[in-house]
Amino acid sequence: MNFPATRMRRLRRTEALRSLVRETHLHPAALIQPLFLCPGVGIRREIASMPGVFNLSLDEAVKEAEAAASLGLGGLLLFGLPAEKDDQATGAWSSEGIVQQALRAFKSNRKLDPLALIADVCLCEYTTHGHCGVVSHDHAATTHSHEASYEIQNDPTLTLLAKTAVSLAAAGADIVAPSDMMDGRVEAIRQALDAAQLDQTPILSYAAKFASAFYGPFREAANSAPQFGDRRTYQMDGANLREALREIDQDIAESADMILMKPAMPYLDVIRAARDRYDIPLGAYQVSGEYAMLQAAFARGWLSPDRTILESLLSIRRAGADFIVTYFAQQAAKLIT
Ligand SMILES: [Zn+2]
Repeated sequence: MNFPATRMRRLRRTEALRSLVRETHLHPAALIQPLFLCPGVGIRREIASMPGVFNLSLDEAVKEAEAAASLGLGGLLLFGLPAEKDDQATGAWSSEGIVQQALRAFKSNRKLDPLALIADVCLCEYTTHGHCGVVSHDHAATTHSHEASYEIQNDPTLTLLAKTAVSLAAAGADIVAPSDMMDGRVEAIRQALDAAQLDQTPILSYAAKFASAFYGPFREAANSAPQFGDRRTYQMDGANLREALREIDQDIAESADMILMKPAMPYLDVIRAARDRYDIPLGAYQVSGEYAMLQAAFARGWLSPDRTILESLLSIRRAGADFIVTYFAQQAAKLIT
């Protein structure tokens, strides 16, 4: 390329030219909005660290879902805040669970037909201890040990996750999305779905979910903070890219239909590496902390919302994500169209 014959700025002169050569695009249909469902009627409780995001009772959630559908969003990702929690996460797999009730209501509403209803599959919102699996305590552990005196038990958790996935699919979930990071959960869920004649329900696996500080605001939104310890014995170490690819290999081998990466912005290189290596549909979750820090900057007038929101989403698409779970979904859809 020789200057002055080659001038890169020629194609940047007008919006028409820029638009013609744009490489990456955002579409409302590739955006998924998370919803936090809570018991009660007429409840629309804003989450302090996430302005514009609410805990919604079922009647309010229906309104929110209708707005999402009318904006052409691709789908909703459903989380539940149960009335009661216990050790066995009963609220996660009960047919009368809060998400199961919402799924039945949404599925009977024709206005919501364009939305893919994705049900998060995990136990942490439903357990008293706030961990994603069954906990065993080791009372023999010495107080001098630096390692935890409790363990999140992998295999007993699989039974509950499979039961949860079947219950959510039976209630109408178009997709089930295990986010727990137990080993073997995709296979366990697939077998349970197939055994329940739910062989057409796809699994969106959170294959590479890193133990991240950026989940902080979500724990307020979903009331799911661990009551002791942290999640580093099951979620991934943020330093490990190759391990993320092994996690994806494993989930594909267990017959995951789609993969989700989480968080997005601090892990764009991992999304890119996964995109280069796999042909499977790939999504990324712009998590609560990514949303909260941008909102904090908007509130102070330090960043301008419209362009920043679109640029943050574009970076995730450019890294290789086919679809994005984002709390900005509705706002972004309005900006795109
Ligand atoms: Zn969890």
